[in-house]
Parts: sequence; C-alpha cells; structure tokens
Amino acid sequence: MAEETKAPEAPKKEKIPRQQMPEQPADVRRHNFDEVPLGYTPEQAMKEASRCIQCKDPRCRQGCPVEVDIPAFIKCIKEGDFEGAIRKLWEKNALPAVCGRVCPQEVQCEGLCVLGKKDQPVAIGNLEKFAADYQRNHGRDVLPPKAAPTGKKVAVVGSGPSGLTVAGDLILKGHDVTIFEALHAPGGVLIYGIPEFRLPKAIVASECRYLERLGVNFEVNAVIGRSETVDELLERFDVVFLGVGAGLPMFLKVPGEHYIGVYSSNEYLTRSNLMKAYDFPNYDTPLVRGKRVATFGGGNVAMDSARTALRMGAEKSYIIYRRGREELPARKEEIHHAEQEGVEFMLLSAPVRFTGTDDGFLTGVECRRMELGEPDASGRRRPIEIKGSEFMVEIDTAVISIGSSANPLLTKSTPGLALNKWGNIVADPKTGKTMKPRVWAGGDIVTGAATVILAAGAGRVASNSIHDFLTFGW
Ligand SMILES: Cc1cc2nc3c(=O)[nH]c(=O)nc-3n(C[C@H](O)[C@H](O)[C@H](O)COP(=O)(O)OP(=O)(O)OC[C@H]3O[C@@H](n4cnc5c(N)ncnc54)[C@H](O)[C@@H]3O)c2cc1C
Ligand code: SF4
Repeated sequence: MAEETKAPEAPKKEKIPRQQMPEQPADVRRHNFDEVPLGYTPEQAMKEASRCIQCKDPRCRQGCPVEVDIPAFIKCIKEGDFEGAIRKLWEKNALPAVCGRVCPQEVQCEGLCVLGKKDQPVAIGNLEKFAADYQRNHGRDVLPPKAAPTGKKVAVVGSGPSGLTVAGDLILKGHDVTIFEALHAPGGVLIYGIPEFRLPKAIVASECRYLERLGVNFEVNAVIGRSETVDELLERFDVVFLGVGAGLPMFLKVPGEHYIGVYSSNEYLTRSNLMKAYDFPNYDTPLVRGKRVATFGGGNVAMDSARTALRMGAEKSYIIYRRGREELPARKEEIHHAEQEGVEFMLLSAPVRFTGTDDGFLTGVECRRMELGEPDASGRRRPIEIKGSEFMVEIDTAVISIGSSANPLLTKSTPGLALNKWGNIVADPKTGKTMKPRVWAGGDIVTGAATVILAAGAGRVASNSIHDFLTFGW
C-alpha cells in the first residue's frame, strides 16, 4: 500500500503587532513643549492599517460618536490611498487632526474593536492622525465645492470645536457665516487649554485658516453679552449658534485658596498656552515657575497642568486625587505619559487646607487620606475620609483642576433661553434648538464639560437643523 503523504502545512500568517507610535523620549520631552508622539511613517501606517480585518458589522464604528466610517478610511490607508482616507474622515468629522490626537479612543472606537478581545485593538486614533497630517503636509490644497450663496446670515458665538463645525458645514451650504470669539485667537479650549505638546497650535490655526479661505469671517475680541447682545445679533443675522463652552473654573472650597500661587487650571494653562508664558523670555507673561507644584484632580486637564508644570521647570509635580488609579478619568495615554515624565501621583488623598506666609504666599497643603466605599451616582466608588490621617505636603504652586461649569456672562444677558440647574443651556439633542426662536446651542455649554468629538458632533446636529430652517423655514 502506498504510503499516505501529508499535505504540506500552509505557512502560518505572521501576526502583525500593533505599530508603536514613535515618541520623544520622556527625559527629553519633559523639558520642551514639542509634540510628544512623532507620527507614523507611511509604511508604519499601512502596516497598522493592514491589521484591520474589515468587519462586516464594524463595532468600532458604533463607538464613534460621529459614526466615522472607520473600516473604509483604514482600507484606504492600507492601499496607500491617503487622500481617499482623509475624504472618508471629512465626511463625518471636520477636525480629524485634532480628534486623532485627543479623542478618548480607548473607551470609544478602539474600546470596541474586535481585535481587542484577544490582542491589541487597531490603533484607529494614530491612523486618523496620520491621514490628517499627511493631507496637511503633502495633500493637494484644494477647497471643496461650495453651494451658491443663499443670502442668509449666521452668527456663531464661540470658536471651539462646536462653533468651528457649525461654521464649516454652513459655509459649504452657501450661507454667510461670522464667528464671534471673546479671546484674541480662535480655537476655544483647543488653543487655550490643551497644551502644545499634545495638540500643536499650528494645527488648530490651520483648521481656522481653512475656514477663512472658505469665506468664514472671524471677529476676535468680541465678548457677546458685553460688546453686543444675542438679541442685537438677531437683528443683523438670521440665526445665532451658541458654542461658548463651559469655561468657568470650579474651586475646592477649602481654606487658603486665596494664597498667591493657587491657580485654576484654566488660568494656569491659558497663561502658558495662549499667552505663551512657556516661551520666556520671548514672551513675558507672568506665571509662577513653581519648584513644587501640586495639581488637584485626575482628568485630562489635571494631567495637562501637571505636565506643563514640569516643562515650566518644577522639580516636583504631584497629582493629588481623592479616588484611586482605576477611577482616574483622564485618557490612559495621558496618565502613562505623565508618569513617564516624572509626575508623582498621590492617590486617595484630598486637600483639607492650604497654608501660607504672613504676606500671602502659598507654602503647603494639608491632605487627608481616603478609602473607597460603594459606587455613587457617577458609578465611581465614593471616597470616604480616614479620620486622623492628615499629612502635609510642601508646595509653592497649586493648580485646581476639578472641573468647570457654564459661564453666566452670555446666558444672563440673553432673555428667553432656558437653563438647567447648573446654568447650562437647554437645547433639543436632536436639533440643537434652544427655547429661544432662531437660537441654537451645542457643545459644553449644553452638556457641561465633555469632549471635543461630542462638541463637534453637537455642531453637526445643529448645522443640519439650521440649514433646514434657513432653507424650508422649520
Ligand atoms: C485642558 C483641557 C484638556 C482637555 N483635553 C481633552 C482631551 O484630551 N480630549 C477631549 O476630547 N476633550 C478634552 N477637553 C475637553 C474639550 O476641549 C471640550 O469638551 C471642547 O473643547 C468643548 O468645545 P466647545 O465648542 O463646547 O467649547 P470651547 O472649546 O470651550 O470653546 C468655547 C469658546 O467660546 C468662547 N466664548 C465664551 N464665551 C463667549 C462670549 N460671551 N462671546 C464670545 N465668545 C465666547 C471661548 O473664549 C472659547 O473660545 C479638554 C479640556 C480642557 C480644558
Ligand atoms: S472593529 Fe477593529 S478590526 Fe473590525 S473594522 Fe473596526 S477597526 Fe477594523
């Protein structure tokens, strides 16, 4: 009997690991404000894109608040069609260079990617950043087609991601759009809050320039509610969109917060970013260059402040947070970057009071240790004080990063708007319409402090509704 021959085994398909994003080394970058991730090369991007198995029912897409066609843009990258990739992204997201950098991907698209069950998910955020950067650096500088002028005029108040999205959508539909911005530069939190090492200002500026080239007018140093009211805008414009964010800082309400050296993160980051305190002596914006800085809070804003402190020359930069590591609300990547750079985490610790000199300078903070109890309304385990566990930390600068709320400046001077108990504007989530005729709102001023992509998504919802109103009158 002839010997049975075994069919040769097919060579196993080599598993491609998730492509690591090249980064500046931690000991170098903690002394500079340059961007931390260096970006994929085209080869790395194509290799990472080839990990995507192009699911028929892509779960990643369900995790994206604006439903970007993720497998389609990844397929374009895999095939080397980088222009096709950016076009796919633009269909749903007006700010891919920003979102690729700052979206909380691990709890959104990447958190649902099927590959993540057994292995690491596809690096969707890194690929989005690659496609947007490639377009900016190498792409053809063509503007999309614009509809014929409709003669309708739209005022957008606030130039954060919600306002920029509304403006970008409506200018393409033929409407005349003017953005009013209180600060001297447009971009909202993207420019005054998120530091250069995470989101270079040049990228935000290029998004704004692109809108300008499309025909959007920018009026900076225009504080609506003061220089002009919303009702006055309604006399000059057909509709008004309010995207004024949630820029009012919250404080700890513990004794000693008045000492010199205690900042809100808004003030600390604005002085550093927008007013370029970091670029001393080229800019002489005053900012305490603390040697021992404590940041209170555990979100992205806290990580940004603690990492900025290091770059401003702090020898010690602490994060003091009353819950544990699992409960830190910041993006995982930011926590990891902060740790690598030498930020020290004092978890399960809450401030009790600040101490200072007789002439008013901060010298320290007394903290109390905490333990975690049952989950509270937020779903996170409630911190409980451990009596008698107080301890002192010597500091010369404190940055309070425990959240922000609605600034009443505009809402108080605008009759007819309905506000909720936190002072946020009440708007229909399906349309962005407020209770005041011809006024729409979206982003943090409606939801409370949230994320870039949710603000941009709210802008898209409002722009569709505004366009319907301007076209059909409803
Ligand atoms: C330090 C920091 C880090 C963050 N990191 C992340 C992150 O990593 N990922 C993420 O997804 N989100 C992050 N966020 C949150 C995110 O930036 C916001 O959710 C988003 O920017 C909200 O967009 P918006 O359009 O509602 O308003 P904003 O971006 O707040 O912009 C509002 C604009 O309106 C202007 N304005 C206010 N009042 C008036 C007025 N009366 N007249 C004219 N103009 C006015 C303001 O000056 C501002 O420019 C961060 C926030 C901060 C502060
Ligand atoms: S879930 Fe993951 S593998 Fe599937 S299409 Fe989305 S990115 Fe690709």
